[in-house]
Amino acid sequence: MVPLSIEHDPREFDAQMKLVCDRYHPMDIESLAKLLESGENPPRGSVVISFDDGYRNNFEFAAPILNKYDILAAFYVITESVKQQVAPWFCETYHVFLSTNIPSWRVPGSVECVSLETREDRDKSRRLFNKCVVSMAAEERRAAIGKLYSDLEVIPHAGSHELMMTWEMLRRLQQDGHTIGSHSFSHPNLTQIGDSDLLREISESKLAIMENTRSSARHFSYPNPIIQPHWTLDVAKALNDAGYTTGVTSGNGTVDKRSNLLVLPRVSAPATVAALRWRLDCLFAGVTD
Ligand SMILES: [Zn+2]
Repeated sequence: MVPLSIEHDPREFDAQMKLVCDRYHPMDIESLAKLLESGENPPRGSVVISFDDGYRNNFEFAAPILNKYDILAAFYVITESVKQQVAPWFCETYHVFLSTNIPSWRVPGSVECVSLETREDRDKSRRLFNKCVVSMAAEERRAAIGKLYSDLEVIPHAGSHELMMTWEMLRRLQQDGHTIGSHSFSHPNLTQIGDSDLLREISESKLAIMENTRSSARHFSYPNPIIQPHWTLDVAKALNDAGYTTGVTSGNGTVDKRSNLLVLPRVSAPATVAALRWRLDCLFAGVTD
């Protein structure tokens, strides 16, 4: 059975968090927001740890390690997936295209038939399908994926209903001091959807987090599926209007007092402690006070 999410070795993650404590300065997103709002630079070497999507392994494996090192992280969740306990749509399409035994597939809205014989064929088809559904409203996308399951004669992944954190798990993270933020309602590309869907994606997810945790849900992480850009200044303005204080992107970089709080860059986490040290050292070497 194919795994549905990216998984890092917990021992490497433990070593990475030890590195962050020993060599840099862990900071939580709330403290970073306060510093930036008052026009101050974060202390040199400050690192905010964040997780996207809301996978249950964040709670089971990452949170105990974070707590051991007193690191307060931000967990940005897809509220539709938490509420319905279903895998995010891009995990489902990954599962369908890798599991099907059907030899070929017709691209929606086209007469083109694509082979599903090789792994390469399957990846190409998945990317084609994902591009078709990334700009759809949540219900339309879910219906299209339902049809894909049926066309390619695949049943849902057995682990799908245990993939995401529950609201109870998120409340426990919050009790430990971590921040619960929004990663949208259904993980579309926010620059590709209409204004009313955009409003729903950012407002409905904020409301769901506020209702189910004690969080004010002031922090947002832009979903980054398939098509670039994954954010624009118009989307950032909509976040601001909806009451968010910060937004983090998948753009690579460091943050200082000149940064726009609603489009803060991040650094993706490599799998090993050595790679993380190299990546952070290179980034901070380029920072001037
Ligand atoms: Zn995501």
